[in-house]
Amino acid sequence: MPSTRALSLPAKGAPFTPTTIERRSLRDNDVRIDIRFCGICHTDLHFGHDDWGGTFFPLVPGHEITGVVSEVGDAVTEFGVGDRVGVGCMVNSCGQCVPCASGEEQYCTEGFVKTYSSRDHDGTVTLGGYSQSIVVADRFVLRIPDDLELAGAAPLLCAGVTVYSPLRRWQAGPGTNVGVLGMGGLGHLGVKIAAAMGAEVTLLGRSPKKKDDALSFGAARFVDTRENAELTGLAGHFDLLINTVPAALDLDTHLGLLGLGGTLVNVGAPSDPVASYNVFSLLSARRGIAGSSIGGIRETQDTLDFCAKHHIASEVEVIPADRVPEAWENLSGVRYRYVIDVATLGTP
Ligand code: NAP
Ligand code: ZN
Repeated sequence: MPSTRALSLPAKGAPFTPTTIERRSLRDNDVRIDIRFCGICHTDLHFGHDDWGGTFFPLVPGHEITGVVSEVGDAVTEFGVGDRVGVGCMVNSCGQCVPCASGEEQYCTEGFVKTYSSRDHDGTVTLGGYSQSIVVADRFVLRIPDDLELAGAAPLLCAGVTVYSPLRRWQAGPGTNVGVLGMGGLGHLGVKIAAAMGAEVTLLGRSPKKKDDALSFGAARFVDTRENAELTGLAGHFDLLINTVPAALDLDTHLGLLGLGGTLVNVGAPSDPVASYNVFSLLSARRGIAGSSIGGIRETQDTLDFCAKHHIASEVEVIPADRVPEAWENLSGVRYRYVIDVATLGTP
């Protein structure tokens, strides 16, 4: 079986170790991809720290993958050698259930197979994009539009679609007021995409030093969430709040920012249960609390195409593989996504 260089966490709490891993021989519907870039998503840290339990070690994280097709299986018709492609958070699903049949593989009733730390249908454990090559079934491979650079496109495969999906579902657009909570990888793309959809966007964050960036990404205003007066000044203002914060929020305060029928959508994924809320925060204005998980394959392609059309890419800091441990220690220091140049992993 072909081998490839990768960056692996051998066990919880152990340091990153450069290593060599195997990738499967091509099946008829497989695409082999030479990975060029892989984003560092906060979810990688949740898995590395085993925040949610059940991480498979050794762990090769990474689900914001872009690269170039190097080989295709006999039955592949949609992709050819040299195509610029991407892989996001999913590499398999049952393909039969109602969500799969309707292009929402992320809600597969059997659970989708994650790009890393998942047991695939053949019994193997998946290994992600902190590596130089990956083999993925064609129905989970995305096309990167010509107008997008591979580095800036990589975070769109997870962070981008994760904000794009709820913005579409809750109909962000002209005349709607959208608030984005937290401006890291997901949040900064949330601001850019919601603004491109025509919504009025407010960034709600705890780091005023990010204010100028938020405005340059298309936000109409920045609100410091540590200042109660600033928050309460926006009571009832929003149609939609997208919460990207990976920590529990004061729900009653934030629900109070929603107008009639407004929805708070959680995409951030703290390991602890979120705090309780007063039910009057909901029923007094028919408000809702929801959650949203990444996006289906079709919607991920829509995200890439939408971003290309609107000249949206992730802000990235491209780093070599030996800086990954430092990047993990300082994720909130980046503006706004670390992306690994996997060529720096060396040769097998
Ligand atoms: P990130 O780049 O680390 O950004 C997180 C942002 O949250 C930062 O801007 C940070 O603000 C802010 N923040 C952190 N702790 C905070 C707190 N206690 N109060 C207020 N703000 C706080 O993370 P990311 O990659 O965007 O991911 C965000 C979350 O989404 C993670 O939990 C990740 O697992 C989850 N996620 C979910 C999905 C899904 O399908 N639903 C997909 C991808 C990721 P500062 O800049 O001020 O530090
Ligand atoms: Zn992610």
